[in-house]
Amino acid sequence: MGVATDNHCFLCGRNGTADPLDTHHAFGGSRRKKSDKYGLTVRLCHNRCHIFGSESAHQNASTRLKIQQWAQEKIMREQSWDTERFIREFGRNYLGME
Ligand SMILES: [Zn+2]
Ligand SMILES: [Zn+2]
Repeated sequence: MGVATDNHCFLCGRNGTADPLDTHHAFGGSRRKKSDKYGLTVRLCHNRCHIFGSESAHQNASTRLKIQQWAQEKIMREQSWDTERFIREFGRNYLGME
């Protein structure tokens, strides 16, 4: 898995030349604003990795989970939260799940 930079896809590392990069929120719906607030977003190739590909974040639960786990680890590290605090903010624990 790649690193979340603005210029490369989090999943495959491509730079968006062929398939423009989108911003994907690790947690959507009512938690989308919190995802923004805490920087829990990644860049993904629009077609292949974000919306349409069979392994894309919006088609594939395990891809989605990978991004959620990355986000949970990031925020717990950056905010010095424990797991309980994370669950209070985001509803559940994503780490240690398959
Ligand atoms: Zn998305
Ligand atoms: Zn990609």
